[in-house]
Order: sequence, then C-alpha cells, then structure tokens
Amino acid sequence: MPINVNNTTFASILDLLSPHSCRGCGRIGDALCDHCKKYILDHHQNLCPICKNTNASGTCPHCNKVKSHDPLPPTFILGERSDLLAALIHDYKYKSVRPLAHHLADMIDQILPPFTGPTFIVPLPTIHRHVRERGFDHTLLIARHLARKRPNFSVQKALIRTDSKVQVGSNMRDRKAQANSAYEINHKAKLDPLANYILLDDVWTTGASLKAATKKLRSCGVSKTTLSILALSRLD
Ligand SMILES: [Zn+2]
Ligand SMILES: [Zn+2]
Repeated sequence: MPINVNNTTFASILDLLSPHSCRGCGRIGDALCDHCKKYILDHHQNLCPICKNTNASGTCPHCNKVKSHDPLPPTFILGERSDLLAALIHDYKYKSVRPLAHHLADMIDQILPPFTGPTFIVPLPTIHRHVRERGFDHTLLIARHLARKRPNFSVQKALIRTDSKVQVGSNMRDRKAQANSAYEINHKAKLDPLANYILLDDVWTTGASLKAATKKLRSCGVSKTTLSILALSRLD
C-alpha cells in the first residue's frame, strides 16, 4: 500500500520515529536550530502591515494619523512570509511538524513587549475542517506554548468560528464581508474588560480576519488588544 504522506496521523508517527532536521540548515536534532532561530530574530524588524514601514512600537505613526473608529491595535509580526519563515509556517501547518509550535511561540514571545496584569492569548479560531484534516489546531497549539512563556499569560478561546468556509474572496471587500460573519464571541469564555488580549494568527493577508476579531472583542468592552502574527504575506 502506498504511503499517504498527507495523512497527518501517519506523518506525526514518522516525526516521532525519525530525527528532526532544521528547516533552515538541515542540521539533525531539532526542527529549528538555535543558529537559524537567532538568524530570524536578528533580522527581525517590526513592520506595519498596512504601509509596510518599520515601526518598533507596534503602533504605526503614519497609519494612526488617520482618524478611525477602529484603529489597528499595536501589531507585532515576526517577518515577511518568505524564505525560512515561509518554510517554517508551511511545514508546521501542512506537514504537521508540531515541534515547530514551541519555536514559533518562542520567537513571538521575544518580539512582544512586556504586558502588565492578566494577559489572554486568543488564537484566531481555525475552520473545523482544517483542524480535522491536519489533526491539530495550529494556532491554538502555538497559543498554548506562548502562554507558558510568561507568568501572566494564559490562553482564552474567546472567539468561535461560525462559518465553515475558507476566505476565498479575491478582494478586500469580499474578505471583509466574510470575516465579519466568520467569528462570534464564545459565551463560555469569561471576558475581562480590564485584561490585555493578544490576538494570535499565522498570516496577515488583508487583515480582514484580525480586524473583524478585534471588533468582536471591543464590542464586549475589551480595550487593551494587541495583534501578534507570524508573518506578513509576501510584499510584492
Ligand atoms: Zn539551522
Ligand atoms: Zn503604517
């Protein structure tokens, strides 16, 4: 019988049996070696996802000049979705290389500012079908690792997915309309309006999902939101 490498269960068994190799340099031992992780962090520059300018504070002075009822929360992005970071995200999501979750969480932790008081990591919920196909919820797993990094961090599944479709709209307006109806507040979660909320997602494409999710949290009185994203869709 041919091996179905897309079968996530089988892939994870293979991962257990065979040694990992670094996705950056091929060194045997771990899915990401210290050297390659340091390379990503050394080259990290926080980019505004809207104007693509560098802004270390997470709040872009250019884009925040425009008065808006829905200003973008402080946003921290590991990098552009290219080269090694693109490979890490791909292998993590589509090849189920789960040990990458703790490396990705580690790097996110290193680019996030300090937070005072209770801080909830809210993973952007993944479509149920994708969780089933991959055998795990990739954003939730990173959130769990990230929550272990600081004593005031914990995971809160504050949002639930109410649709079952991938956002396929080719333009901003389509994606925005889909995203606005894609998330609802999880009423089993006890939201704390005074706490910090870090919304976690893998890739910023148009930002429609993160903006819609931010709006939902704000509608429940949450005011201290931060966005944390692995990668910005390639800047072409
Ligand atoms: Zn390496
Ligand atoms: Zn900007």
